[in-house]
Amino acid sequence: MSTQPKSFDYIVAGGGTAGSVLAARLSEDPSISVLLIEAGKNDSHPLIHIPIGFAKLTAGPFQWGFVSQPQKHAKDRRIPLAQGRVLGGGGSINAQVFTRGAREDYDNWEKKFGAKGWGSDQMMHYFIKSEDNERLSGKYHGNGGPLGVSDLVNPHPMTKAWVQAGQQMGLPYNSDFNGESQYGIGYYQTTTRGSRRCSASVGYLKPARNRPNLTIITQGHVKKILIENKRATGVEVIINKRVVTFNSQREVIVAAGAYGSPKILQLSGIGDPADLKAARVEVVHSLVGVGKNLQDHCDLDIIYSIKDYLSLDKYAKPRFHTIKAGAEYVVFRKGPLASTAVEGGMFSYSNDKEKTPNLQFHFLPAAGIEAGVVGAKPGYGVTLNVYLVRPESRGTMRIASSNPLEAPLIDPNYLATDYDLEATVEGLRQMREIMGQPAMAQHVTAEHLAGNAELTNKDSYIQFARSFGRTSYHPVGTCAMGVGDEAVVDPNLKVYGIEGLRVADSSIMPAINSSNTQAPTVAIAEKASDLILGRKPNI
Ligand SMILES: Cc1cc2nc3c(=O)[nH]c(=O)nc-3n(C[C@H](O)[C@H](O)[C@H](O)COP(=O)(O)OP(=O)(O)OC[C@H]3O[C@@H](n4cnc5c(N)ncnc54)[C@H](O)[C@@H]3O)c2cc1C
Repeated sequence: MSTQPKSFDYIVAGGGTAGSVLAARLSEDPSISVLLIEAGKNDSHPLIHIPIGFAKLTAGPFQWGFVSQPQKHAKDRRIPLAQGRVLGGGGSINAQVFTRGAREDYDNWEKKFGAKGWGSDQMMHYFIKSEDNERLSGKYHGNGGPLGVSDLVNPHPMTKAWVQAGQQMGLPYNSDFNGESQYGIGYYQTTTRGSRRCSASVGYLKPARNRPNLTIITQGHVKKILIENKRATGVEVIINKRVVTFNSQREVIVAAGAYGSPKILQLSGIGDPADLKAARVEVVHSLVGVGKNLQDHCDLDIIYSIKDYLSLDKYAKPRFHTIKAGAEYVVFRKGPLASTAVEGGMFSYSNDKEKTPNLQFHFLPAAGIEAGVVGAKPGYGVTLNVYLVRPESRGTMRIASSNPLEAPLIDPNYLATDYDLEATVEGLRQMREIMGQPAMAQHVTAEHLAGNAELTNKDSYIQFARSFGRTSYHPVGTCAMGVGDEAVVDPNLKVYGIEGLRVADSSIMPAINSSNTQAPTVAIAEKASDLILGRKPNI
């Protein structure tokens, strides 16, 4: 540590998806010095890089272990909220599903929230810039970007049956969920390259790691931002139980995710005075929106036993076929280990008023592999889940105390509105409908509803949703971009009222995108890099 410089042009707090992109892009100019600080470890563990490793990563050492506050509209349950704590952040432990949401999401950011310059055309520029798609090209896709995107190497027979079942139900086959429309059923593309996970750490940071102007600190916990006369001048970081100060000559960029970023702001005295007072933190700058506007996708799962084919559960424990599968992966980069587990995808509507699909489904040819999925039975099976992509429910996130190592108080406030419940119930109904189609029904031996629930009428569906809804790991919105009292950052991602300070990650989304959240976060960080460096893209 002692030989490390203590002053940098830019300090990026949080080395997850956005932080990796920012550090790589900002350090492209050799005259600019960049410090990236990540609380977790390096992303060197093999499980991170083998696609099926996702099955083991939603619990364990590479996530923060957050648990929600009791959920008022979900039977007062405290729900586990896995979030990445490792270089690459969520991108190092996620399911690698590659989706971007609907164009309308970003036009809405611009029109409804005043996020000027963040409409769909601008976001498309950064989606394309970031992407290296192995199959698709043209107006919706990029080739040669840092983020590898691939087709599933060998979709599981159960996934194929499920995709056929959806077509039997009347949905169109969709070969590109990031093309003209999300509507339909098909196979997800994944953020993998050569059958290995391609997180932002792998795609962006790895090629940049040897640059002399880029310093990366892992296992460094950003305690607070140093602020003098309403200007950010650096950060305090806990490293090996010691507090170390780093100075920024130009800016501090907070990229610690939807829970980490508002936490760092609040610990620095930036936030709603009521929240800061409750945590005994002195108010440096009042900004009421910090930690408000929390949005997440509330996921519901159903597990099914199947007969003819063995699902991926076959490989859950070390046995002969696991060793065989390991050899197949090492030699040919194929087989069960090359699967991300989340193979099949579907977007549909819960009602006929929506302009774009508002329900998203994931099909896994495995039974309940994610932590927090209730109802997995011994034996082999498949899992189907659904969530409403544009929930109305809004939650909060605030620090519990001035102790930077204490977990924050997170209240996603799941299922707080009638619309959210109605849509989720309709999603559950559609899950059962698709599983009843001939292509799938021929394989299914039993439906295993968590808690041995019986879904017979609307109320039983509602009770099921309230009893078993869980996170889909997509928290956003807690440092919302826009104009107005609750906005935290302006459309240049500058924190209102403080010089030399930006937030650039999933927390700045004013409204959640209509799908998984990694690709939009990468695009946000790409655009942030241009904004910081004053580069004007040709759009
Ligand atoms: C289990 C899981 C599955 C998911 N599946 C998918 C999927 O299939 N497809 C998809 O598109 N999206 C998925 N997501 C969501 C996606 O990964 C996230 O939206 C994305 O990673 C958010 O990026 P971010 O940079 O905002 O935050 P993160 O990637 O979470 O990065 C924040 C980083 O900051 C670090 N940090 C926090 N506080 C501090 C501090 N005080 N000091 C230093 N460092 C700190 C964290 O450790 C973390 O590494 C999933 C997420 C998870 C957790």
